[in-house]
Amino acid sequence: MANFQIQSTLTKLGIKALNESVCTGNQWITAIGSEIKEIKSPVDGQPIASVTFATVTEYERVVKVAQSSFEYWRNVPAPKRGEIVRQIGNKLRAHKDDLGRIVSYEMGKSLQEGWGEIQEMIDICDFAVGLSRQLYGLTIASERPSHSMQEQWHPLGIVGIISSFNFPVAVWSWNAMIAAVCGDVCIWKPSEKTPLSAIAVHQIIKSVLVENKLPEGIFNLIIGDFRIGEKMAKDHRIQLISATGSTRMGKRVGQVVGARLGRCILELGGNNALIVSEDANLDNALKACVFGAVGTAGQRCTSIRRIIIQDSIYDKFISKLINVYRQLKIGNPLDQKNHIGPLIDTQAVKNYLNAISDAENEGARVLYGAKVLNGEGYESGTYVLPTLIEAKNHFQIVQEETFAPIAYLLKYSRLEEAIAMQNDVKQGLSSAIFTNNMHEAHIFLSTSGSDCGIANVNIGTSGAEIGGAFGGEKETGGGRESGSDSWKAYMRRQTNTINYGKDMPLAQGIKFDI
Ligand code: NAD
Repeated sequence: MANFQIQSTLTKLGIKALNESVCTGNQWITAIGSEIKEIKSPVDGQPIASVTFATVTEYERVVKVAQSSFEYWRNVPAPKRGEIVRQIGNKLRAHKDDLGRIVSYEMGKSLQEGWGEIQEMIDICDFAVGLSRQLYGLTIASERPSHSMQEQWHPLGIVGIISSFNFPVAVWSWNAMIAAVCGDVCIWKPSEKTPLSAIAVHQIIKSVLVENKLPEGIFNLIIGDFRIGEKMAKDHRIQLISATGSTRMGKRVGQVVGARLGRCILELGGNNALIVSEDANLDNALKACVFGAVGTAGQRCTSIRRIIIQDSIYDKFISKLINVYRQLKIGNPLDQKNHIGPLIDTQAVKNYLNAISDAENEGARVLYGAKVLNGEGYESGTYVLPTLIEAKNHFQIVQEETFAPIAYLLKYSRLEEAIAMQNDVKQGLSSAIFTNNMHEAHIFLSTSGSDCGIANVNIGTSGAEIGGAFGGEKETGGGRESGSDSWKAYMRRQTNTINYGKDMPLAQGIKFDI
């Protein structure tokens, strides 16, 4: 399949210049800085565009515009804010094909997954529209006569969104669409590895804002690297920082935001395991393992890193697994025949190779893969064979997240042992068990079961739906985004007590007569 023409797709969306590194919703601002970054597609290694990083001057402008637009946006009734999000969802629907292709070409995920990412944005828009009429507070029984108590939820202010390369646009939408109906404005710093997808999405946002004659500054985009991210983390004018990325980044951002007692949502690395019991439907378990470990070339926070297999079926299951791995097609992700695309860059390939040699040095055994592909179609040097390694859970490398299609195979005999192994890592994002044994399924989901933010039975670890709260425990950061009541993190809670009586009794029966 011919290379995807990203420039013509960007032009189709009305994007002319890529030195415009800041968007205040309604208009693009040309960066005066001279730091230009060339973006290469991991698909074919070709340079696809150059973007200019924003400087402090543009950053200051964006924050000021965001501050003033918050004064306006917070007073727009929530269902009216929902109406704008509804229109954004519709525009995304209309451009799903183009946007999915840009994501796929810029990030390297399969076209199906690229479209899936845009669908996730559309879904969260729908969710947020409904939510815009449901930002409920509680009423609470007062202990005092003729008093009423209620909770109100007010908008928070500016939400700073720092996002990772592997979900170039969806993660932003989980935050931005919920924040928008809550009455917040946002500033988005996408990954410096995938700015074009963000620019394309913002072009669509811009058209909705302009059509509705809204002031600038409700949705803002700023292109830059970790230095802009650091500025945002330090900036007391940004009430909430929602940062998605590595645990290393999250530890830094958490400290910086914590030092100013700001609020943080941290969505960080995972080290996800899938347990295969002898009572599992092995065909389904096999499909889940393969999709979970090799989907997005192992570059999902929820990718399967460890497969924990019961000893009685271990040999049979791994031979089936190796057999499927042999048949996987690796190549241009825009060609729908291929199952696996490239890693994001050659540094990621080095990390893949280092992890394999570290595992071998610790005594692990490579059962399949461990190879960088070359030759026709692989000129970018970013395609690797998905890899299966027999290992032990306590190996240092198994304890770490390597952002590549490497799955460690581990053996267990009793369920308690499998659960202990699954929990015995620093991260706590996603987990799964395959079993048709009701007892095992419930133990896995019980208090003494999985310690992760996501625990699934008979489905894999990745591919969460937007309706649930998404996030993980321990070094995954503890944040929750997207569905359920995650919206509460984007608002401030106010408890109101109203005395409609003639007297003024004090709480706890305290007497204070004057
Ligand atoms: P990364 O940490 O390298 O970068 C993520 C973002 O943080 C980028 O925008 C980057 O510019 C910014 N950044 C880096 N250092 C910063 C700093 N000191 N201050 C402020 N901003 C900073 O991560 P990546 O390689 O883009 O993404 C892969 C990682 O993200 C993996 O660990 C993956 O598990 C994780 N991830 C987690 C989730 C989740 O929801 N838990 C989702 C997607 C990705």
